[in-house]
Amino acid sequence: AAASSSSVDAPGKGVENVVIIGSGPAGYTAAIYAARANLKPVVFEGYQVGGVPGGQLMTTTEVENFPGFPDGISGPDLMDRMRRQAERWGAELYQEDVEAIDVKSSPFTVRSSERKVKSQTVIFATGATAKRLRLPREEEFWSRGISACAICDGASPLFKGQVLAVIGGGDTATEEALYLTKYARHVHLLVRRDQLRASKAMQDRVYDNPNVTVHFNTEAVDLVSNTKGQMSGILIRKVDTGEESVLEAKGLFYGIGHSPNTQLLKGQVALDHSGYVQVEEGTAKTSVEGVFAAGDVQDHEWRQAITAAGSGCIAALSVERYLVSKD
Ligand code: FAD
Repeated sequence: AAASSSSVDAPGKGVENVVIIGSGPAGYTAAIYAARANLKPVVFEGYQVGGVPGGQLMTTTEVENFPGFPDGISGPDLMDRMRRQAERWGAELYQEDVEAIDVKSSPFTVRSSERKVKSQTVIFATGATAKRLRLPREEEFWSRGISACAICDGASPLFKGQVLAVIGGGDTATEEALYLTKYARHVHLLVRRDQLRASKAMQDRVYDNPNVTVHFNTEAVDLVSNTKGQMSGILIRKVDTGEESVLEAKGLFYGIGHSPNTQLLKGQVALDHSGYVQVEEGTAKTSVEGVFAAGDVQDHEWRQAITAAGSGCIAALSVERYLVSKD
């Protein structure tokens, strides 16, 4: 599904300025900036998330915190606008997954099933994937009761004033649970082990909050709906006794972590112990000169569309500077 004719297929026909891998807010923002700088970026959009380009926001309904949209905007609509903006300025978009890259020698090589591109620089913006539990009815309620982001969805009318549950026992889960107490009537924290893994400070905050109930040795088995087909509870099981019961909850938040999409980069650029790309603090620079990273693939802390877009901008401007410095 090439979006425009390209010279990159032909062997020996030159080296691109920049290849951008990924089509979330980071990839498209990098593409907009690189295209406006006349760098003619080649973008591999991928199709791993839901079989379409656009990244994680393609799986959500309303985005209420992206500046410029006072009435909110649907995730797919926001991503379509970013895509069109990149295309308008001349980014060359390919709906293909990158299958291999080689950044060990310059120019770098990026290969998809359809083509092989040589490039002076690469921006890696392949995002991260929220870990899921794969409950039997998870797909049915994803974004309609289940969320992987309390900051994004906590204030949604779906959850406001309701009883909610969070799964996980680490810092992410405890942070999500505490955040949700601002909006929810009550929050249940479901922890599979018999203790929290979160830092002592977070544990104290959870135990001190009367609006959070911690359920140890507890796992989610499935979701339960009411007669209107809306999510109304969670079937939970005590891991020590096997006893099952239904916990009333209108929402379930996953706080079990994310997996960065960095398989392609293993052994090529420095990754941290969780597999995220390591960048020099405050920059988009990876351990390899000319290779930059932006968005959730290098960010296990903020994970927002606007921060991903911001880092995509930094990556594209860094590419521009780098190419000028090489001339
Ligand atoms: P992603 O959006 O993860 O995009 C990565 C892209 O890389 C994808 O297009 C993928 O197909 C592509 N890719 C991966 N591997 C390859 C490959 N090998 N070759 C080519 N392409 C590849 N944030 C907010 O600010 N507000 C919200 O309301 C909000 N709601 C959310 C709701 C949900 C359900 C989820 C899951 C997340 C939400 N977020 C929200 C978080 C936000 O979506 C992410 O922070 C943001 O999308 C990260 O952008 P990114 O560009 O780094 O990566």
